[in-house]
Amino acid sequence: MKQLLIIFFLVTWITTYTQNKELLFEVTGICIKAPETGQVDSFIDFIKDVLVPAQANTLILRVDYDFPFQSYPQLVNEHPLTMDEVNQIKTACKESGMDIIPQINLLGHQSWHSNLEGLLKVFPEFDETPHVQLPKEYKWPNDDELYCKSYCPNHPEVHQVVYALIDEIVEAFDAPAFHAGMDEVFYIADSKCTRCAGEDPARVFADEVTRIRDHLNRSNKKLWIWGDRLIDGRTTGIGLWEASLNNTHRAIDMIPRDVVICDWHYEKAHPTAVLFAMKGLDVVTCPWRKPSVAEDQVAMLKLLKKNSSEEVASHLKGMIHTVWTGAQNFINQYYGLVEFDKESSDMPATLKATLKLNEN
Ligand SMILES: [Zn+2]
Repeated sequence: MKQLLIIFFLVTWITTYTQNKELLFEVTGICIKAPETGQVDSFIDFIKDVLVPAQANTLILRVDYDFPFQSYPQLVNEHPLTMDEVNQIKTACKESGMDIIPQINLLGHQSWHSNLEGLLKVFPEFDETPHVQLPKEYKWPNDDELYCKSYCPNHPEVHQVVYALIDEIVEAFDAPAFHAGMDEVFYIADSKCTRCAGEDPARVFADEVTRIRDHLNRSNKKLWIWGDRLIDGRTTGIGLWEASLNNTHRAIDMIPRDVVICDWHYEKAHPTAVLFAMKGLDVVTCPWRKPSVAEDQVAMLKLLKKNSSEEVASHLKGMIHTVWTGAQNFINQYYGLVEFDKESSDMPATLKATLKLNEN
C-alpha cells in the first residue's frame, strides 16, 4: 500500500513538473542602454544582484556608437566604453549564464530631434531624405513628418560600413545574436530618393532585414529586430508608433522565418505575439514603464502558450523589459536613489512584473 502511494505521488509530481516545464518561457531579460564609461562596475553589480537571482537570461545592450570601433573610428561617440569595460561586461554575463545581444540602430533612428547620429554625420550620402533639414528646435508633428532620419538601404556603399560594425560588436561581446533596431522607420522608399522612389516600402524593408539576416547567418548568428513595422497599424487600430501606417507591414510575410521579433507595446497588452508566432516567427513581448501592462502581458502569454499548438507555443519565446533612460539612472531608480514620476513611469516595477513570467 505504502509503495503504491509513493508511486502515485511520484507519477503526479513528474506529470506536473513536465507540464509546468512545457509552459516555461525561454527568454526573460532586459533591454537597456550600455552603461557609460566609468560606470560599468555598478552595472555589473546590478546584473549579478538583481537580474541573475530573478532568472533573467538575456541582456539586449543598446550600444550604438559608444563602442571603440576599429573599423570606422570616425563613427565613435566622444566617450565610448573601453575594450576593458566591454570585456568586463562580457565576462560577467558569461559567468551568470546571460546572453548579450548588442544593438546598433539600423535603417531608422539615424537622428534624434535636431541631431544626426554617427552614421549620417560621417556619411551624409547615405541619407534617405537629404532634402529634409533637421530643425533647430524639434517638435512633433511637423511638416516634414520627421521623426528620425533613415539611411537609404539601396545605397551601394552603406552595407560595407554596417556589416563591419555588426561584425566587430558581435565578436567583442561574443554574442549569439545582434539586434538591429529597425523600429519606427518613417522614411522609407521616399519619393525623392533616386534609388528607392516608386519601390514598395514593404519590399524595401524586407530586403534590408534579409540582407542583415543573411550577413549574420554566415557566422551562425541570429538577427533580432523590433516588430512595429510588421504590424498593420490601420486594421489593428494600433496606429503609427507601435505598428505601421506606412505600408511596411506586408514585410511580415517576406522576411526570413528565423528573425526574432521584439514586440513592444507600452500602453496596452495588444495580442500581437500570436500574430508573429502563427506566422512562424519567434517573438518576445516587451513592456516599458507601466507595471499593469507587463502584468497583462505575462497573463496573456501564459494563456496563449497554454492554448496553442506545440508549433505556435514554441515561437512564444518570452519577455524583455525595455528601459528608455540611461543605465545608471535606471539603476538609481531601481534602488530608490532618485525620484521619478511614478504616475507615468515606473520602470523598476515593470521590470519586476516582467521577470515573474516563469513564476506559477
Ligand atoms: Zn533610398
